[in-house]
Amino acid sequence: MDRLILTGATLIDGTGAEPVRDRAVVIERGRIGAVLRGRREGDATELALDGLTLLPGLINCHVHFCLGGEADPARVLFEDPVAIRTIKAVLRTKQTIEAGVTTVRDLGGVDGIALAMRDAVSAGLIPGPRVLAAARGICMTGGHGWRFGREADGPDDVRKAVREQLKAGADVIKLFATGGVMTPGVEPGSAQLTPEEIRAAVEEAKKAGRRTAAHAQATDGIAACVEAGIGSIEHGIFLTEAIAAKMVKAGIALVATLIAPERIVTHGVSAGVPEFAVRKSEAVIARHLESFQLAMHHGVPIAAGTDAGTPFNPHGSIVPELALMVKAGMSPLEAIRAATSTAARVLGLHEETGRIAPGLAADLIAVAGDPGERIEALDAVRLVIANGRIAVNRLGGAA
Ligand SMILES: [Zn+2]
Repeated sequence: MDRLILTGATLIDGTGAEPVRDRAVVIERGRIGAVLRGRREGDATELALDGLTLLPGLINCHVHFCLGGEADPARVLFEDPVAIRTIKAVLRTKQTIEAGVTTVRDLGGVDGIALAMRDAVSAGLIPGPRVLAAARGICMTGGHGWRFGREADGPDDVRKAVREQLKAGADVIKLFATGGVMTPGVEPGSAQLTPEEIRAAVEEAKKAGRRTAAHAQATDGIAACVEAGIGSIEHGIFLTEAIAAKMVKAGIALVATLIAPERIVTHGVSAGVPEFAVRKSEAVIARHLESFQLAMHHGVPIAAGTDAGTPFNPHGSIVPELALMVKAGMSPLEAIRAATSTAARVLGLHEETGRIAPGLAADLIAVAGDPGERIEALDAVRLVIANGRIAVNRLGGAA
């Protein structure tokens, strides 16, 4: 298929602009060739999308392919032999693309599995989204993430830990800057990596042209990451106005992952979620929402991420997270922008994906209904094109 034309759809381009009706999108050699008004005749194969909405492929800025969203995902991970861990990750990769998510950032795992998913998808071995992978996250000894991460202490050791991830092929460096919910014995409100350690990590990543992301929940830890020029703040539970203002100035994004604590609290201990995770999530969930709203009102760039793999937070659809963002006050079009153009910018892929514009990769989804009105319509996926290749086709008929 050299030339494909998608006709008849209402188009939401991912920039936050209002939907426009009856557009045709030409795909040539895997890229978006043109966006036209109405229908054109030509030598292209036509896919009629009348009545559907066409959008950029969605982007999830925070997943863990090693974790499966069970009640206690870490227990399952450590019980499985590495071959089973890998097979499960392949299935999660497939679920992701089938939900219309054409790019993900994996923020930490074990055994190089996310790196392998990235390479297997790009080699065409398995269906899946474009993957940016962090290899192992970097944490302090005994700090949040230590069961999966590379423990490092002192700026020199942190520098070495970053170099190890770069050597393994990491696209992005993930830091566990503060305590968190899913590790027993650490508190979300506690600082962990020191400002010197964070600075060393960011500097080392920048030297290699890589971006950074920090799990940062405690105020001091968020502030240290922002000062150091981190790429994105993950979770950002104890954000303040002063920090939000600095994030706006520096263009540092928030990836809130609202769904992660929400799912833990909703399902609770009776469903098998570890008690420590439930207790800590209950303690921070209201503050987390407040910080999200504070960021939104200050104009902090907000990108969508789910923390997929955490309890009852499976891989695949990011619509539950977007629905929480809408419930917190975003318009559906703003939530779509958070999962498309803003997310692409956070990942450094804004000239590659995240919008429907000529020259970008043909990462496109068609859904039934109008997600600009009702965000849940994003789950009615009819067509997924990833990097110019049709990954899902539920259009029916001769198409
Ligand atoms: Zn995470």
